[in-house]
Amino acid sequence: MSQILQEVLAANKQYQAEFGDKGSLALPPARAFAILTCMDARLDPAKYAGLSEGDAHVIRNAGGRASDDAIRSLVISYKLLGTKEFFVIHHTDCGMLLFTDDIMRDLLASSLETATVDENGWHDVGQGPGSAEARNIAFLTFKNLEQSVIDDVQRIRQHPLVPATIPVYGYIYDVKSGQLLEVPAATQIGQAK
Ligand SMILES: [Zn+2]
Repeated sequence: MSQILQEVLAANKQYQAEFGDKGSLALPPARAFAILTCMDARLDPAKYAGLSEGDAHVIRNAGGRASDDAIRSLVISYKLLGTKEFFVIHHTDCGMLLFTDDIMRDLLASSLETATVDENGWHDVGQGPGSAEARNIAFLTFKNLEQSVIDDVQRIRQHPLVPATIPVYGYIYDVKSGQLLEVPAATQIGQAK
């Protein structure tokens, strides 16, 4: 068994021992909101937004982007589980600022091993073969952090399956300080009507 697998299972045993009465939590989030945020390992939405089990939906992907799949989750979140407010939270130093679809496609076409990065950019150092399949994936990278928050709030706001009554707030989490910084233009666009 891998070291990580052992550690995770041991941690779960500990968690279960202290689980308390959380087995009685209801399925719909008690505080009726949803957060769309990045998968970055430095972000812990439960901590930065003060969540306990059962409080809120947290939807995570690379970049915290409003992808079709993220919107699928948000629609289920409000339509079936009663959430009434959405947050889009991207963050400083996001990996999605560091590559493009073309770079990613070239790296994957070369090999399926982990690439390296230095001041000259990304390099593939793996043994091939890679795959050209990445041409079918939009990786949803971005060049401007504030604009990415604005774009994603706008996409959610304008989506025909998202009701105008749900406010969509746009924020950037600062990985250096832990602070949530509003993107006022995004929150403005995301206002409920
Ligand atoms: Zn990120």
